Amino acid sequence: MELIQRGGNAGGRREVRAMLKLSGQEFCRWATHAAQALPDEACGLLAGEAHGGDAFVRKIFYLTNIDHSPAHFSMDPREQLAALKELRAEGWQLLGNVHSHPESPARPSQEDIRLAYDPKLRYAILSLVDGTPVIKSFWIRQGVVEEEELRIE
Ligand SMILES: [Zn+2]
Repeated sequence: MELIQRGGNAGGRREVRAMLKLSGQEFCRWATHAAQALPDEACGLLAGEAHGGDAFVRKIFYLTNIDHSPAHFSMDPREQLAALKELRAEGWQLLGNVHSHPESPARPSQEDIRLAYDPKLRYAILSLVDGTPVIKSFWIRQGVVEEEELRIE
């Protein structure tokens, strides 16, 4: 199964870029979790390791979307703290966050862009449109969205 999603390549320029790697197992578990959370958006934190620019997701922490909304999310702050504690205890880094889009494509919404609070965190988005899970990862810095290569292996 070909699941590689390439990042943006504006102007056809080839660059060596960092990428985000996710195991097929973690991807499938997250997609299943997001489907079970419907009609609400699911949200979580990406924990793992970063080496030489590449980042490897070791675990996705599933957090409660306290907005209980199909159009936006807020992470439960207590669960967020517990996840941060656990990931530090494992020696992992917080790589970014992840949420689902039940009815829209895998790209940041205007609200996602407006609410992006940390330029050091990536924003992975899983779309469930048409029942086919698609995940993409983005950096959002000062309102500018840049897709990052995400490889599922
Ligand atoms: Zn969103």
